[in-house]
Amino acid sequence: KIAMDGTYKDNDLSHVVAADKAHVWHHLIQHKGFETTDPRIIVEGKGMRVWDQHGKEHLDAVSGGVWTVNVGYGRESIANAVRDQLIKLNFFSGAAGSIPSAIFAEKLMEKMPGMSRIYYANSGSEANEKAFKMIRQIAHKRYGGKKTKILYRDRDYHGGTIGTMSAGGQDQRVEHYGPLAPDFIRVPHCLEYRAQWDVENYGERAAEAIEEVILREGPDTVGGLCLEPVTAGGGVIVPPDGYWQKVQEICRKYDILLHIDEVVCGLGRTGTWFGYQHYGIEPDFVTMAKGVASGYAAIGCCVTTERVFEMFKDDVDDPLNYFRDISTFGGCTAGPAAALENMRIIEDESLLDNTVAMGDRMLGNLQALMEKHRVIGDVRGKGLFLGAELVADRSSKEPVTEKQVGAVVAASNAQGVIIGAMNRSVPGFNNVLCFSPALIATPDDIDQITDAVDNALTKVFG
Ligand code: PMP
Repeated sequence: KIAMDGTYKDNDLSHVVAADKAHVWHHLIQHKGFETTDPRIIVEGKGMRVWDQHGKEHLDAVSGGVWTVNVGYGRESIANAVRDQLIKLNFFSGAAGSIPSAIFAEKLMEKMPGMSRIYYANSGSEANEKAFKMIRQIAHKRYGGKKTKILYRDRDYHGGTIGTMSAGGQDQRVEHYGPLAPDFIRVPHCLEYRAQWDVENYGERAAEAIEEVILREGPDTVGGLCLEPVTAGGGVIVPPDGYWQKVQEICRKYDILLHIDEVVCGLGRTGTWFGYQHYGIEPDFVTMAKGVASGYAAIGCCVTTERVFEMFKDDVDDPLNYFRDISTFGGCTAGPAAALENMRIIEDESLLDNTVAMGDRMLGNLQALMEKHRVIGDVRGKGLFLGAELVADRSSKEPVTEKQVGAVVAASNAQGVIIGAMNRSVPGFNNVLCFSPALIATPDDIDQITDAVDNALTKVFG
């Protein structure tokens, strides 16, 4: 028997490993590899650190692997809030309200001036699906079935469902799953390091490329534009100056609803509550998931303006007068209860300020590494959301190989620091190392991460 009381370090978890290998299908993993190696089982976490089946300690520089555990591991106050709520009321259909779903909504709206309503879901994909459905319904309701097209951007990611994959800007994640949903149209990415236009004001030019697509498709056919504020899995792309202002202008000009996917950036990751708030823009939809409850419970939210909400209740005789959607577990009480406590922690511990300070420190450290390692072609980031692009040659910008990226990640792991590499199954994007430590990181944590990267780069590239 395995004691799950924290004494696992003295226990043999070989049975757990065997059960995992026999029955669990992991995300994004080629399982053939487990014929000769074991999966990593994460047993416990505290603060910035996790422990595996061998009792080995790891500094987690990617917040649970996928930008999620914003307030760190082992938060008893969140566990207690969830426990208390579950005993009081675990579930009732979202056709009714609950105390945590109402109070979290109120608290969240304080941080999102201009936004007004939450439609609850369980994940980032699902929250995005809700926004897509609302945009489509508005197209039917207000534009006679025109304006059903939704634009998405090359290299952005919005989820793993058929609908969100149809808005997927990373080809190799979607190419085996067609046919996808119609009327999702791609616009160019805005990564200046891999510039597509030779111009001075790159941000404005990249936004104009969206306008060109709108004009090509016909403005009366385009209902929505879905963008990540800072692209995550597509290689940590921070839009250049001038980009967002122009995007907003274009949306207004052509009456296109702006949907910002804050699944990664939301709840402090970039040093503001939401990524879009750096740019002074006014979205119609904001979707979020990962950091909303830092992984203590599943929650996804599709947040809209009152204007959008009003479109669904203006004419009670219209069969399209309400949003014909249900999500059984959306708003299930554990999610908003955890999310409320998660927000309190971010606020009371001034984690946004810490994110800005530690993000600056990490960017500085990475820039210093760039002086030393010619293999780093570019570093970029916002708050504690950073990337380092590895290239075999700085002038041609030829990416290093997947194998080399894997070796850097492994060499860092061997030093007890878990880092990420963007979507290594996708050639072209696979050469960006990713860093997204929890917002509680200290200067020592940041330095430990970049020291491990320094050593790993030396080991792999000399
Ligand atoms: N949007 C973005 C920007 C994401 O990075 C992700 C997940 N990596 C999603 C949506 C999908 O979220 P989920 O996995 O919770 O469905």
